[in-house]
Amino acid sequence: MRTDESLRTAEAVRDAERWTPRNYHPLPVVIAEAKGAWVTDVDGRRYLDCLAGYSALNFGHRHPQLIAAAHAQLDRLTLTSRAFGHDMFADFCRELTELCGKDLVLPMNTGAEAVETGIKVARKWGYQVKGVPADQASIVVAEGNFHGRTTTIVGFSTDPDARDDFGPYTPGFRIVPYGDLAAIEAAIDDTTVAVLIEPIQGEQGVVVPPAGYLAGVRRVCTARNVLLLADEIQSGLGRTGETFACDHEGVVPDLYLLGKALGGGIVPVSAVVGDAAVLGVLRPGQHGSTFGGNPLACAVGTEVVRLLATGEFQRRSAELGARLHAGLRDLVGHGVLTVRGRGLWAGVDIDPALLTGRQACERLAERGVLVKDTHGSTIRLAPPLVVSAAELDHAVAQLGAVLQES
Ligand SMILES: *Cc1c(COP(=O)(O)O)cnc(C)c1O
Repeated sequence: MRTDESLRTAEAVRDAERWTPRNYHPLPVVIAEAKGAWVTDVDGRRYLDCLAGYSALNFGHRHPQLIAAAHAQLDRLTLTSRAFGHDMFADFCRELTELCGKDLVLPMNTGAEAVETGIKVARKWGYQVKGVPADQASIVVAEGNFHGRTTTIVGFSTDPDARDDFGPYTPGFRIVPYGDLAAIEAAIDDTTVAVLIEPIQGEQGVVVPPAGYLAGVRRVCTARNVLLLADEIQSGLGRTGETFACDHEGVVPDLYLLGKALGGGIVPVSAVVGDAAVLGVLRPGQHGSTFGGNPLACAVGTEVVRLLATGEFQRRSAELGARLHAGLRDLVGHGVLTVRGRGLWAGVDIDPALLTGRQACERLAERGVLVKDTHGSTIRLAPPLVVSAAELDHAVAQLGAVLQES
């Protein structure tokens, strides 16, 4: 970066680290405004956003329909708490159940809260419906998982950074290798209430399990009377070219755990969606959230569901995703080792002999393309689903140029 253009950025980067702990290591880019697939930094430089807030911005920055819904709601009613009803609640829940083909929606705020909700519901279902002895419930999870940052959730993470020194950990979780159906079968016993799984492991580097795995997990869960909890917080809502990543194998989980894009990149909105036979175990006082299902969240979330109901974004993700993956595959052997993913979602392993994932991200940022590294030499691309073919080609070309000059 040229210093004359970077004065505000340098200052803003310094300031941003000054009054906060170092629990993040952001790229040296300070964004001031954004529209669609593009962001502009404090020095007026523009970048193509190929991370999209880890899929929280599936519809791009400030999608006009979502912003209009938010504005209209801000002018009318923003919060009631669930102590009272409000007039945006029913439509949100009904339209989201229709999108998911389920009976009920339990709205929360963050993804981690949706996961926590899924765990609580699965345990209560286990005791009340399945008949698991008190305090014996077990949940099977996968190695390399990312389900959020709460103390319970990090306890069954296999990433030392996420987990270490945050114990004592919540018991009741069994960790098996990801993609290994036999391991799941072997881990299930009479105490097992759920298998909690990401249909594609995003944080792990966009790891796609072997074909037939999800369908197999569904089969095993059904046969053993175990709930399938699909964490579609990052993989869902159009990202992979279908509404849900589970759709690629015709799999319907017992509970969908949703978040990120459900809030349209405007407000945190998460939800657990399932049938009455499962979610119906909760009674007043047993679970909740002050902000969950608030009017502003419902206004935006309903509009998100309406965008998805058209199928347009899923189609774009499938078509443009094919183009993205073809472009990235052409870089294999030219600094790229492997490419994984589905739809507009890709994990790219860079040859570590050339440069680290972090270095690749920094150099791409200098060239006006924002992506994020994960686990050493992997970079992850998840552009907003409103990105154009030409913009995608541009991003791939910039990655090619970075690798060529390394
Ligand atoms: C981001 C993410 C979460 C956690 O969501 P937060 O809103 O950050 O709490 C959980 N699961 C998956 C798969 C995610 O990608």
